[in-house]
Amino acid sequence: MNNQPATERSARLSVARTLDQCSVLGPGSRAVIWVQGCPLRCRGCVAAETLPFAPAEQGRPVAELVDWLAALPGIEGVTLSGGEPFAQADALVELLDQLRQRRPELSAMAYSGFRLTALRRGSPGQRALLERLDLLVDGPYVAALHADLRWRGSTNQRIHLLTQRYAKALAEPDTSAGLQLSVGLDGAVSWAGVPAVPGFRAELERRLATGGFELRQDTPDHSPQAVPPTPKGTR
Ligand code: SF4
Repeated sequence: MNNQPATERSARLSVARTLDQCSVLGPGSRAVIWVQGCPLRCRGCVAAETLPFAPAEQGRPVAELVDWLAALPGIEGVTLSGGEPFAQADALVELLDQLRQRRPELSAMAYSGFRLTALRRGSPGQRALLERLDLLVDGPYVAALHADLRWRGSTNQRIHLLTQRYAKALAEPDTSAGLQLSVGLDGAVSWAGVPAVPGFRAELERRLATGGFELRQDTPDHSPQAVPPTPKGTR
């Protein structure tokens, strides 16, 4: 047992948002980490607030994230999304190594805007991250190729089996896994998943606005959340 505080034990990961349980971004029930920062600028990206990079020192301690993941009941793995996970490959390698010391049964899946072939020629950290994944969804989102697909948004994006753990799961119909809406204890609404139709986020924002809600993009964890309207006269 390591009694050292999590903040003193490891590297930091710049995180946009986390979710305890998600059933629409990979097989089964999964925790999700959306990292902050992506070097690409895909037109129609539904996670625009995750694109700017943040100073590394402002990131969350990896050990703190491991503590959170290791304590989650009912998940079969973690999905790494973003943002671009491979832009923070070293920290994610550390996260998965620490996590599997405590929960070796958990699977790992990641998204990347880069192709698998490019990642295999990437930095040592990027190659090490690939070695720790069961599934990779690769390639940038291309709005002109948008389609109703499982776990991805456009037809150029591919699901790669990096281990055989989910070989059977990939035989299932390749259609959208849907979206997941969550309501926080503070009443804030957030969503996860890959929209089956283009323009989903703009339409969601429009409908929320008609109900007096707005999509908040400047939350401390940069998550896309709809928050209840603030009563007039208050801030
Ligand atoms: S790679 Fe992903 S996060 Fe980065 S711009 Fe493209 S869709 Fe957005």
